[in-house]
Amino acid sequence: MYLYNSLTRKKELFVPNHPDIVKMYTCGPTVYHYAHIGNLRTYIMEDVLEKYLRYLGYNVKRVMNITDVGHLSSDGDTGEDKMLKGAKREHKTVMEIAKMYTDAFFADCRKLNIKRPDVVEPATNCIADYIHIIETLLEKGYAYRAGGNVYFDTSKLEKYYVFNDFNAEDLDVGVREGVEEDANKRNKNDFVLWFTQSKFEDQALKWDSPWGVGYPGWHIECTGISIKHLGEDMDIHCGGIDNAFPHHTNEIAQSEAYLGHKWVNFWFHVLHLNTTAGKMSKSSGEFLTVSLLEQKGYDPIAYRFFCLQSHYRKNLVFSWENLDNAVLAYNKLVDKIAALDPAAPGELDKQLLWELKQRFRKGMDADLNTSLGITALYDVLKAKTDDRTKLAAIRDFDTVLGLNLIEAAAKKREAAKQAAADEERDPEIEALLAARTSAKKEKNFAEADRIRDELKAKGIEIIDTPQGPKWRRIK
Ligand code: AMP
Ligand code: ZN
Repeated sequence: MYLYNSLTRKKELFVPNHPDIVKMYTCGPTVYHYAHIGNLRTYIMEDVLEKYLRYLGYNVKRVMNITDVGHLSSDGDTGEDKMLKGAKREHKTVMEIAKMYTDAFFADCRKLNIKRPDVVEPATNCIADYIHIIETLLEKGYAYRAGGNVYFDTSKLEKYYVFNDFNAEDLDVGVREGVEEDANKRNKNDFVLWFTQSKFEDQALKWDSPWGVGYPGWHIECTGISIKHLGEDMDIHCGGIDNAFPHHTNEIAQSEAYLGHKWVNFWFHVLHLNTTAGKMSKSSGEFLTVSLLEQKGYDPIAYRFFCLQSHYRKNLVFSWENLDNAVLAYNKLVDKIAALDPAAPGELDKQLLWELKQRFRKGMDADLNTSLGITALYDVLKAKTDDRTKLAAIRDFDTVLGLNLIEAAAKKREAAKQAAADEERDPEIEALLAARTSAKKEKNFAEADRIRDELKAKGIEIIDTPQGPKWRRIK
């Protein structure tokens, strides 16, 4: 498979570091609010990547953190703690907020068919790991203490801006967010590894450390958690594109300084879901959740389909009209699959099934082109083969796409059967048919004709067959 690597800015052939396992890490949600459907676009596309790697036969170990401490309003380590802000907003404790929104996040994931990563680790579980890494960074001269906090010294690196050849002046995060610079920093992009002091009200959760009672910075979490569970290297690190700078840039800085070698092979970044007013975010603009989609009558899987229709490295514009179009296309697709007969006789056409799978793979191998993956589904429907083979191919592709196609089609088929059975069992029509049969037996043809006309007025046509009268609705 060829996968775009943000680090090299090229599509590269994916080859895992170790033959027996693909190690994958995902930056998890900051659990101070519901995830919006923009956040979930990122998790949907990462889920497809994980499932496709498994489809290719790789054994994947995927780790995700849950940010329940240390993420401040600005990614540049200034501003108020997001968790504390959430707790105040809802008059709850930070841990109550963390539990509630972690549960809500995984409930949304289930509705969107996003598999739970193999390891899910809350940041507050690994404080000793961060302290150990920070101690090592201080010993190696990559970190310094100032104003009670510990900072990473970005001037000690040969290259800090690994994802882009940014001009340092353009990336003044503090100023960008409209938040004052932290005067303790020696260099503008130095970042906090451990806080004991904050200009804002303190974090509610604190731990003892060699530098005083405090709490870890946001970036150190992902380094600590990934090294704890995946060891000193990994194949793929994922996240939304807004995480590339400063979060992932800082993760690389501290991890490679700590480890003394290269850390991650592939950086997989999903571009944003935008509204017509700009990027969907928790702090501004429209904030759409899975529950809201459901309240409006949308199946969350239709949103997944909407995301899969476009490439993960393109911004995606959300509008209700665009979502409605995806719903129409999804329903049509399911209708076509429902028209296939799962009990069709005949042998599986193994050769054709293989060819269909190759077509699916060709699309997905091209930097996870899910829209080509969906096109491969239409190719199956158009293929000149039996229903059994078609259904086998669709079932196979859907282990990656996660669109519930086989289940949704079976439901549709069942619903259609039920509707037909309900029609046949319409007691009023059956009573009239029985009355007509009696009238005919009694040679009361005028009454029999009257009943026929009455049924006709109701839109029912009688068909006399050798097995007795049948009826159908006139279309
Ligand atoms: P957060 O909970 O804010 O830490 O974000 C969770 C994930 O969602 C991160 O990987 C972000 O990069 C990603 N993300 C945030 N906003 C968007 C958006 N509008 N579209 C796609 N991904 C996003
Ligand atoms: Zn992270």
